[in-house]
Amino acid sequence: MVSRVIPVNPFDLVVFGGTGDLARRKILPGLFRRFCAGQMPQDAQVIGAARSEMDAEGYRQMVRDAIHEFDGRRPEECPELEGFLSRLSYVQVDAQGEGGWQELKELLRKDTVKAFYFSVAPSLFGDIAERLKNNGLAKRDARIVVEKPFGRDLASAQALNKSLAAYFHEDQIYRIDHYLGKETVQNLMAVRFGNMLFEPLWNSQYIDHIQITVAETVSVGGRGGYYDKSGAMRDMVQNHLMQLLCLIAMEPPSKFEPGAVRDEKLKVIRALEPVEPHHIVRGQYDAQGDEGSYRDHAENPRSRTESFVALKCHISNWRWAGTPIYLRTGKRLRARTSEIAVVFKETPHSIFDDDAGRHRNILTIRLQPNEGMELGVTIKEPGPGGMRLVDVPLDMSFSDALGPDAEEVPDAYERLIMDVIRGNQTLFMRGDEVEAAWAWTDPIIEGWEARNDVPKLYDPMSSGPEDSLMLMHRDGRKWREIRP
Ligand code: NAD
Repeated sequence: MVSRVIPVNPFDLVVFGGTGDLARRKILPGLFRRFCAGQMPQDAQVIGAARSEMDAEGYRQMVRDAIHEFDGRRPEECPELEGFLSRLSYVQVDAQGEGGWQELKELLRKDTVKAFYFSVAPSLFGDIAERLKNNGLAKRDARIVVEKPFGRDLASAQALNKSLAAYFHEDQIYRIDHYLGKETVQNLMAVRFGNMLFEPLWNSQYIDHIQITVAETVSVGGRGGYYDKSGAMRDMVQNHLMQLLCLIAMEPPSKFEPGAVRDEKLKVIRALEPVEPHHIVRGQYDAQGDEGSYRDHAENPRSRTESFVALKCHISNWRWAGTPIYLRTGKRLRARTSEIAVVFKETPHSIFDDDAGRHRNILTIRLQPNEGMELGVTIKEPGPGGMRLVDVPLDMSFSDALGPDAEEVPDAYERLIMDVIRGNQTLFMRGDEVEAAWAWTDPIIEGWEARNDVPKLYDPMSSGPEDSLMLMHRDGRKWREIRP
């Protein structure tokens, strides 16, 4: 099966922070891959805009090196690289001063889509938005892209939204959560809303519970300073896990279009019940040796920031009353894996002998490492010896089902940047969604602070603290194993 690539319209994309880590690791290699795929038009223009003094040739060299380092292909495998680099230019811009803005304005062309990617610290968002306006660049059809973290609590998120809303309309603001750009996440919507099979069963009558796990093996490493002020709740749960929860739990939108999808996601967040303190476990990895403990990386050697969270939540509506959703994320865990598991109830009555066993269907949506879906179904164990039941997976891995081209699916950043150019906000968070997510998260964090909560220690390469296993165990359930 050959995937269809529809080129986007000619565009000028300005990457503020174009020399930074995110630009070098994700944004520019992602654009290069779209260029190679024929989706980025030959006459598109990408302008790096950052604080460093550099000319266009110096910038191209920096991007050449970044692509070799992060694209994963050898130089001889990238014959299109020089063509892509010729679409790049650079301007030294001071986000908080006036330097460079006029030059930037002169580089932008008429009659192209204009997008401004704010790949800088959030403290600069308002400054850049204001200068875009003052320099006549915040036209009605311009788009801005902003990165996480979008606030660290409700008040700061509201302030950020306000600082952008002063210069741009909501339909011009693209808040990126790269989890939404993953192929499987969109496939989840295709499976839910494109088949008759699942949706009638998608409720508390048939689903026992849902587990969402985002496990990382990495430590906080060099990000210790930033992470210590954040922690897993702010860094992962409030945004990525919350977005996955919304997509799995939302009502069918009337149309796959930005307003309808985002309205339904918002309703899920607003229907989330406050989390009981005993339904949440915080953890912090602890180890001696080369990589050390969390506290070795944090600025504060007595830090109480969590590198792990597991919690049980409930959505108060007709569809989900009585079906808990368990969320779990952490660093230095046994494997790097992200998955959603929808665990169905047992059949109401077994017609088989007791030793046939009772089984459940589990629909697993894997986001990484190998994106795909798997449906566990119960069948008879082959051979003589009576009726013994066994679970087998109906594997819906894209590459197996759709052929080798399926492996060429764009990564999340590539897809999302192309969506910005196309003007499609469906997979971006709306301001009210972000605020609602903070409104649910804030009391949890405030509760920890008020109680002076101490995170439970856990061993690296484990599944997290023992209490997280108990959270499930108390409910007669089990986390799925964290495995690669
Ligand atoms: P970075 O520190 O590596 O780069 C910052 C960039 O901002 C540089 O290009 C720098 O020149 C520019 N900059 C700083 N001050 C400026 C000023 N006054 N005027 C003009 N340019 C200025 O940061 P990063 O890791 O690339 O992160 C950028 C943003 O993306 C941050 O908000 C970060 O939280 C977010 N983010 C990063 C990652 C990642 O993997 N690096 C992932 C998710 C989100």
